[in-house]
Amino acid sequence: MTDAFIQFDKVSKSFGPITVVDDLDLSIGKGEFVSMLGPSGSGKTTLLMMLAGFEKPTSGEISVDAKRVDGLPPYKRNMGVVFQNYALFPHMTVAENVAFPLKMRGVSRSQIVERVKKALDMVQLGAFQGRKPIQLSGGQQQRVALARALVFEPEVVLMDEPLGALDKKLREQMQLDIRDIHRRLGLTIVFVTHDQTEALTMSDRIAIFNHGKIEQIGTPGQIYDSPRTQFVAEFIGETN
Ligand code: ADP
Repeated sequence: MTDAFIQFDKVSKSFGPITVVDDLDLSIGKGEFVSMLGPSGSGKTTLLMMLAGFEKPTSGEISVDAKRVDGLPPYKRNMGVVFQNYALFPHMTVAENVAFPLKMRGVSRSQIVERVKKALDMVQLGAFQGRKPIQLSGGQQQRVALARALVFEPEVVLMDEPLGALDKKLREQMQLDIRDIHRRLGLTIVFVTHDQTEALTMSDRIAIFNHGKIEQIGTPGQIYDSPRTQFVAEFIGETN
């Protein structure tokens, strides 16, 4: 693997007496697409929330590009975030939704118009600028959320089950689109899913979670051809 771009060093997170991320080390290279895969409750989302800045580690350090980020608020981390339930602003148009992160950052009006257009073209929604979220399909709404995460040109994009609410056909199309955007923009993507097929087809590497620890991390080939523990073998042997 290349040099670590995102680095977790002995990171733990407890809620009260319960440890949900347990002394975890993880290195992600620049431009990598890494999926977090594992049973419900194994700590995948909590890991992502700590990277995004919505949760603080109980102990340990998180760095991006060799700089500590675990003390920074989310807006200073320059990461795009996409959740399963799009979380669009219902009263705003598509263009206003996508413009929002730029307004927050004090970008000039002319720059905003240009960047919003570019982001919406990237997700093939250029013609939908003036619509309200309610006038869009689920897949289109998720594309708006993706455009909003990309519009301030982050180097890192975090996605938590972003396709979980979509039907199979739409899901497969979005998987291809996200892979394509990943490659074109050279993004580093950390992707949480419980869908093995999705992790398998999209990722450069997959981390298998179990009780707050990573049981195994490797390319899809490594994980599927040589599961290193009984847990990994059993987990990937299950059908979705
Ligand atoms: P996963 O994404 O793998 O399903 P999560 O990271 O969402 O797992 O959750 C791990 C565990 O932490 C779960 O048992 C969950 O109930 C618990 N948890 C997550 N967030 C909180 C919170 N804010 N307060 C208390 N417990 C939490």
